[in-house]
Amino acid sequence: MSLTDMIASACAATPDFASGHVWLAGAGPGHPRYLTLEVADALAKCDCVVYDALVSAEVLALAGTAELHFAGKRGGKPSATQESITATLIELARAGRRVLRLKGGDPFVFGRGGEEAEALAKAGIPFRVLPGLTSSLAALASAHIPVTMRGISRSITLATGHAAGTPDDLDWRALARVGEPIIVYMGLKMIGEISRLLIEGGLSPETPTAVLMSATTPDERLLVATLATVEAEVQRQDFAAPALIVIGDIVSMRNVLNSGDGS
Ligand code: SAH
Repeated sequence: MSLTDMIASACAATPDFASGHVWLAGAGPGHPRYLTLEVADALAKCDCVVYDALVSAEVLALAGTAELHFAGKRGGKPSATQESITATLIELARAGRRVLRLKGGDPFVFGRGGEEAEALAKAGIPFRVLPGLTSSLAALASAHIPVTMRGISRSITLATGHAAGTPDDLDWRALARVGEPIIVYMGLKMIGEISRLLIEGGLSPETPTAVLMSATTPDERLLVATLATVEAEVQRQDFAAPALIVIGDIVSMRNVLNSGDGS
């Protein structure tokens, strides 16, 4: 069976991408090999794609002749407001287009997909949600860090570092007390503050900490440090967004798993 036939057969039972509908989809971590078959199929069927900055050019290239609408941040200009993005989705749907709203990773993991789905529901626009591989799962696989590991961890926290140090911030000290690994999205700028709060909360300054940058893309980079040294290492090695921070003993498993590296 060819890949095209496989996609067609896998998606045969999915609802029709009807005119005037919005499909809210995850493009995965970057490289097109991580697209789901359903999202690849939607890319081929849609009339227009409304995409974020984290959606790679390689993925967009699969949209063929569909009209492309950029809805992210570029060149230091402020990002499109959430209101203007939902207004665009509603306008395109009402004009009878098949709208693919494409986001990096999974639309419901720190992707504001919940807010967009809510706005579509309120406006009476029919929509579906197509999951994607969230960046942290792909990044950890590539770094040989198991997301959970018997004997080391019993839970995993996905946290956002976006609001670190603001009144809206989550309670990092409380997370430290849980003593289980933490994966931080959007945390690079505030990494100093986050490590300080976690150490104050009781995590050892020696806790293994990894930073995974641009996972699955040609710019992919990894650094491993400790909670106490990670901020300085990020600066010294000039790491930039998008990046994920992984804090906890699961990071040490790399040393064991690397010996089986087949890449
Ligand atoms: N919905 C997305 C997350 C959006 S928030 C998902 O499920 O992955 C944006 C943050 O995601 C970035 O700041 C970074 O922390 C992370 N991220 C997304 N793609 C990434 C990649 N390829 N490599 C490393 N981090 C990534």
